[in-house]
Amino acid sequence: MKNRKINSSALLVLCLFIVSVLAGCRFPRSEISHQVGMPVKYLGLHVLVESRQAARELIAEIPALARRGVNLLVVEVDYNFEYRSHPELRGPEPVTREQVGQIVQLCQQHGIRLIPEFQSFGHQSWEKKTFSLLTVYPEFDETPGKYPDNQGIYCRSWCPLHPDLPKIINALYDELLEAFEADGLHVGMDEVFIIADPDCPRCAGKDPAELFAHAVRTAYEHIVINRGREMFMWGDRLLDGRATGYGEWEASMNDTHRAIDLIPKDIIICDWHYEEMPGGVYPSIPIFIEKGFRVLPTSFKNMRAAEALIDFSLRFPAERMLGHLCTIWKQPEAGKTHKHPPLVLAARKLRATG
Ligand SMILES: [Zn+2]
Repeated sequence: MKNRKINSSALLVLCLFIVSVLAGCRFPRSEISHQVGMPVKYLGLHVLVESRQAARELIAEIPALARRGVNLLVVEVDYNFEYRSHPELRGPEPVTREQVGQIVQLCQQHGIRLIPEFQSFGHQSWEKKTFSLLTVYPEFDETPGKYPDNQGIYCRSWCPLHPDLPKIINALYDELLEAFEADGLHVGMDEVFIIADPDCPRCAGKDPAELFAHAVRTAYEHIVINRGREMFMWGDRLLDGRATGYGEWEASMNDTHRAIDLIPKDIIICDWHYEEMPGGVYPSIPIFIEKGFRVLPTSFKNMRAAEALIDFSLRFPAERMLGHLCTIWKQPEAGKTHKHPPLVLAARKLRATG
């Protein structure tokens, strides 16, 4: 019996060895580079996973995304996860820990870096719906009681100076880092339009750039300093909408842009631009690079704009220009998302540059 056991064990070890070698052979060059700490060209995809159905679709689609060449997946869950520290903040159909475990396993199997995203500061509501933080704890609202039914505003913001807020948000960040087994977190922070509201007892009269930088540094202190992970964020509030020509969405017209000089430079900036720029020039890329940031240019569904952004960005050295991030701004769809035309385009162009 004993010999038989040894033989079975040896056979098992041999099988595992063969499987691991075969699995290793599937890794594209860029993923192997990531493992040994070399500069990486990321082909990234950002998806919204705000329900169990969305998680099921993603789980089914990950192998096809990997075959497309995706090696970075940004999974935005926001409040829609089975948080234990603050179950009162869970969305209506939170993604389960078991589902996240499956996503982690699949990403590890396919050499995909997995980054959870939690939309911070702005985007605390969408149309008439206010998300859980500001409905459960209205005292954290930058504009409590103002704008009933969110009429006349784009999205609500939390108050970046409320002293009781970081403890709650950091607990949510921690749970995401742990569940996703992630070495980085995307904190969102795009399109913050409500800031330094004149009726906020803490923020009224303060410099929006200082307030925005304070919010960024608060997240950075926890994620990078305390937890030793990387921090990703959207870049629009750090750009001067007038000087760059990007306008008020892809850049800031509400005086937050000077925050670019007030935040740590080892944050990875996801520099999103969805429109074609004159001459195919996207000035934000050299701006961020010259300031010392690493940049991940981000496209959406306009193919001509995506192509122009990719072509322009590939002129810059790989040390700080990290590749490309596609977004679909909806939940993934099994059998479809890997065919998202800008993703196919980005895969081809990144592959062509080696
Ligand atoms: Zn405030």
